[in-house]
Amino acid sequence: MTPVPGVGTRPSPHSALGAHGSVLVINSGSSSLKYQLVNPVGGEAIASGLIERIGESDGVVRHTFAGNTTRRTGPIGDHGDALRTALDLFAEVGPDLAEAQVVAVGHRVVHGGSLFSAPAVVDDDVLRAIADLSPLAPLHNPANLRGIEVARTLLPDVPHVVVFDTAFFQTLPDAAATYALDRAVAEEHAIRRYGFHGTSHQYVSGKVARALGRRLDDLNQIVLHLGNGASASAVRGGVAVETSMGLTPLEGLVMGTRTGDIDPAVVFHLHRNAGMSVDEIDELLNRRSGLKGLSGENDFRELHRLIGEGDRDAQRALDVYVHRLRKYIGAYLAVLGRVDVISFTAGVGENDARVRELAVAGLEGLGIAIDPERNQGRKTEPTIISPAWTSTLVMVVPTDEELAIARQAVAAIGGGDGGQAAGDADDEYGGPAR
Ligand code: AMP
Repeated sequence: MTPVPGVGTRPSPHSALGAHGSVLVINSGSSSLKYQLVNPVGGEAIASGLIERIGESDGVVRHTFAGNTTRRTGPIGDHGDALRTALDLFAEVGPDLAEAQVVAVGHRVVHGGSLFSAPAVVDDDVLRAIADLSPLAPLHNPANLRGIEVARTLLPDVPHVVVFDTAFFQTLPDAAATYALDRAVAEEHAIRRYGFHGTSHQYVSGKVARALGRRLDDLNQIVLHLGNGASASAVRGGVAVETSMGLTPLEGLVMGTRTGDIDPAVVFHLHRNAGMSVDEIDELLNRRSGLKGLSGENDFRELHRLIGEGDRDAQRALDVYVHRLRKYIGAYLAVLGRVDVISFTAGVGENDARVRELAVAGLEGLGIAIDPERNQGRKTEPTIISPAWTSTLVMVVPTDEELAIARQAVAAIGGGDGGQAAGDADDEYGGPAR
C-alpha cells in the first residue's frame, strides 16, 4: 500500500488547534468501515463515508462532502482496499486531505478491558494489547485492529490514537463492576462489567454541564443512550458510577435486536432442550431478539406505525422496552440519591418524543416530569424538556461520538483537554467545566 502524501506534515499537534486542523475518525467493523473528517474545534463534520460489504464482490461505498454523496459499487477485497477507496474519493471529489491538515487519525476501539481508562497513541504495544483483549470482543477488536493497521500503513506520517468504548466506565466502583461469580473464575477470564458507549456517555454528560453553565462535578446525571444499541449510565460529578452494559454490550436495556438483561439460564435451557449451539444462541440473543425479536421491527418509526394499525406485537415490544428503561431509571435514582439531570440521546433518544414521554411518565412524585410542548419533535441542540417546577431537569442532548473521538485524539497528542466537559464550538479546548 502506498502512503498518502501531504497528510500529517504539520509540525506540531499544537498548531492543530488553529481553525484549520482536522481529524480523520475511523470506525472499522468486520465488513464495514465508517469514517468522518472532523474539525475538532468548530465541531463540524467536513466529510464522511461508509464502506460496506468488505470482502464481497458487491461492495458499496458512499462518500459525502459538501452536501453531495458519491456512490460507488464493486468488489472490495479487504480493509486496505476499503480505506484506499476512501482516500481515492477524498482525492477525487474532496476535500483534499493535505489541505484539510489532518493532525491525527482517531480510531474507535470497542474493548479496552481493564488496560485502558483513556485514549492511547498507537504504537506496537498498544496494538498488541488490543489484540490480547480480543477474547472479550471477538467480533469487534480484531476488526478495529484491521482498520488501525491499514490506516497506519496508508497514513504513516500522522499520529494514530485509539479511543475505547469502555474507557469512561473504568471508574465504576467495584460493587458495580463485579459480577457475583466465583472469584477465581472471574479473575482468570477477566469477567467483570466493563460498560460500552462510554465515549457518548462522557460527551453527553459533559455537554449537559456546558449547556447549563454548571460545573460538571456539581451534577448527578442519568444518561440514556437510546440508539439501535442502548445503554444507561449514572454519572456523579462527571465520574461514571453505574452503567447498564456489562462484559459485552448485550446486558441491560432492551435494544433493537439484543435482549438486554435475561436470565442466563435461558442459555442453558436453549442448549439442553432446543439443541442450539453456543454460536446459535449468541446470534439469537444479539441479532434476533430485542424489539425485532418481539415484533419483527427494530426501527421505532415503523414500530409506532404498526402500533397505530393495532399491531399487538409491536405494542408489546414498546411496552417491554419502556418497562426496562423505567426500571433502570429507578435503579439509578437509588444509586445516585439525587439526580439533577436525566438526558436522552442517540437515534431514539433524540428523535422519539413518545419514548421519552413514556420513560418518565408518572414520576411527578419524584420531581421528574416532561412538558409535552417542550418534548415535541426531534432535537438537534441540547434542550430542556421538563417543566420549570421539577427538581430534576429532563433534557435531550444530541450525541456526537465522532467529534468526541476527534477531540480526545487531539488531546492525546498533546493538543487540548479532549473536550471532556463540553463539545461546543466555543470550547476551543479552553479547559474542562469542572
Ligand atoms: P442510532 O443507533 O443512534 O443511529 O439509532 C438508530 C435508531 O434510532 C433507529 O433504529 C430508530 O429506531 C431510531 N430513530 C431514528 N430516527 C428516528 C425518528 N425520527 N423517530 C423515532 N426513532 C428514530
